[in-house]
Amino acid sequence: MIIGGGPAGLTCALYTSREGYDTALVEKSALGGQVGVTERLDNYPGFPEGISGNDLADRIARQVEKFGVEFIKATEIASISDMGHCLVAKTTTGEEIDAKAMVIATGSEYKMLEVPGERKLLGYKIHFCSTCDGPFYKGKEVMVIGGGNSAFEESVFLARFASKVTIVGRSDEWKASAVLKQKISEIPNIKLVKTKLLKNS
Ligand SMILES: Cc1cc2nc3c(=O)[nH]c(=O)nc-3n(C[C@H](O)[C@H](O)[C@H](O)COP(=O)(O)OP(=O)(O)OC[C@H]3O[C@@H](n4cnc5c(N)ncnc54)[C@H](O)[C@@H]3O)c2cc1C
Repeated sequence: MIIGGGPAGLTCALYTSREGYDTALVEKSALGGQVGVTERLDNYPGFPEGISGNDLADRIARQVEKFGVEFIKATEIASISDMGHCLVAKTTTGEEIDAKAMVIATGSEYKMLEVPGERKLLGYKIHFCSTCDGPFYKGKEVMVIGGGNSAFEESVFLARFASKVTIVGRSDEWKASAVLKQKISEIPNIKLVKTKLLKNS
């Protein structure tokens, strides 16, 4: 059994089912995981014109289904117990599903600011990965929120495409490493701004 229907879980299901293992895949929301909420991917091999996240998720799901994987949708696993001869996963509604082996592919969640409009713009105007989405902002002005290593690293990458990158942080001190601070100070199109206005998540 595979827990999580993002790209990792779906790919895992493709391999196990194709090898002849009876495979069930449990997903708490929509198949596709984070890819499903991505407006457009242009770094997925085999799609020279790019592909919408939704389409890609749908294609992978159909490919997986072809090998007989059982999709258990809208089901969230809350706990797993080892019964010796098998593992038993309990859902949030109390049902039990047993399997000889389980793969946990539950992904990760990005920390949101929880400000109005944020979720609506996710994957369209708000992003979490400059390697994934930075090239869409060629010649444009971009704001990066955060003052740690991730924000600084993403900004260094973004500065290659964007005309201007403004890093906005709320702490008195920038938390990024000294090496990254030095690097940022040498990139002319990156500007640092401090504000107390960012809402806590
Ligand atoms: C806005 C955005 C844009 C992106 N753009 C790109 C891009 O252009 N190119 C690129 O390569 N990558 C991109 N990424 C990153 C990419 O989407 C992730 O790297 C990828 O989705 C990770 O796959 P995953 O299967 O490991 O996890 P996830 O996609 O997070 O999937 C995990 C799944 O597990 C499910 N789950 C979690 N807990 C449970 C539970 N207890 N029970 C049942 N199900 C559970 C979740 O609902 C989810 O569907 C983007 C991500 C975001 C958010």
